This record gives sequence, C-alpha cells and structure tokens, in this order.
Amino acid sequence: MTAELAGIETMTAPSDECRALSVRRPWANLIVAGHKSIENRSWTSSHRGRMLIHAGRAWVPAGAALAAVQGIDGFGDPGLCAGGYVGVVRLVDVHPAAGCCGPWGFQDDGTYHWVLTNPQALPTPIPGSGRLGLYRAPAHVLAEVR
Ligand SMILES: [Zn+2]
Repeated sequence: MTAELAGIETMTAPSDECRALSVRRPWANLIVAGHKSIENRSWTSSHRGRMLIHAGRAWVPAGAALAAVQGIDGFGDPGLCAGGYVGVVRLVDVHPAAGCCGPWGFQDDGTYHWVLTNPQALPTPIPGSGRLGLYRAPAHVLAEVR
C-alpha cells in the first residue's frame, strides 16, 4: 500500500467509509444537482453515509424526459451532462418500493429506493471509469472531494 493510500485509510472512519456508485446519465447529473433524491436499484445495501456518484457514458432518454416533464432545464442534452465522478451524496436509507418516493422512485417489482441527501456537485468532474455495484471510492477521487 502506498503512503497516499494509507493516508486515505486513516481519514476514513469505518462507520462512514465513502463508497461509489455508477449511475447512467442524466440520472447521475440530476442527483448531484439536487433534483433527484431517489436512486432505483434492483438490490439493497447496508451502506449508509457518503457515496460518490459516477456518471457513466450511457444515456437514458427517459431520464431526460422525466426531468423535462417536471420543468427541470439543462438535462436534455448528453453534451451538457458530464461523465466521470460528478459529485457526492449521503445514502441515508434503502427500502423496497411501496408506492412511495415519486416521481423519481420507480415502483417495479424488486425495486429498492436508495434515499439520497446532501447532494454536492464537484466544481469540475473528475475523469475515471465506474464499476458495477457499490464499490470502494477511488483514492484519486477521494483526494479531490475532502
Ligand atoms: Zn420509497
């Protein structure tokens, strides 16, 4: 382990270890801008606390459409929605969809609502690739958000 990584480990309390989640665009961009407070997943997590949001390359037209319907501007053009690490949130709850959390929470069978608070967009997105699942936040990104 490098000295840099050891430093990160020291700063990261086990109870609030920062994780990262890759989310397709523009969902990821809507989250860090404070518009989308629910992330829909087919799996649950016991993680609570800080979570980096990575914006993947994939573009979801339905995300842009849902933002537009609510009168939220600026998320309809893939060219305006950055990829890479775009911000940080707090994951405060995960629960099964039960007709709640509209309009962002979907109600399909097997969907979990991940409840996000304290969104903070990074001034400049940090390039990097995402991974599947909820993963350990990359050290080079953590260094920029602390
Ligand atoms: Zn819900």
